[in-house]
Amino acid sequence: MLYALNDRVKYCYARAAGCRERAQREKDPASKETWHKMEDRWLRLALSVELTESISDFHSEVRSFLEKRNVELNVLKRAAVCPSCGNRMRLISSEPHERVGNVDLYCFVCDCGHSTETYVRRES
Ligand SMILES: [Zn+2]
Repeated sequence: MLYALNDRVKYCYARAAGCRERAQREKDPASKETWHKMEDRWLRLALSVELTESISDFHSEVRSFLEKRNVELNVLKRAAVCPSCGNRMRLISSEPHERVGNVDLYCFVCDCGHSTETYVRRES
């Protein structure tokens, strides 16, 4: 998944770069080491923020997928009960709508002879 670096991650990288510059200017080895450690901490924090956000993006994608899927299943459950006799109907075909890109046409038949078609909007 591609996503723009958010402000918090950018901030961490900017602070890491600042620490690196300070370390390079520093003459005293102990101070140089301290600034390099600070740089490492900012880099680790940036990576941690990035990881947290990618997990949260993934989580919301999964939730949204499941919600959409649930809507489709509810439509299909309603359509699968025969309005004439109340028995369950059989799904005989499902195919993309010929003109509307994100709609499928589901066809059901019942043993009593009743048939029905229903549209299900496909979320992309
Ligand atoms: Zn029927």
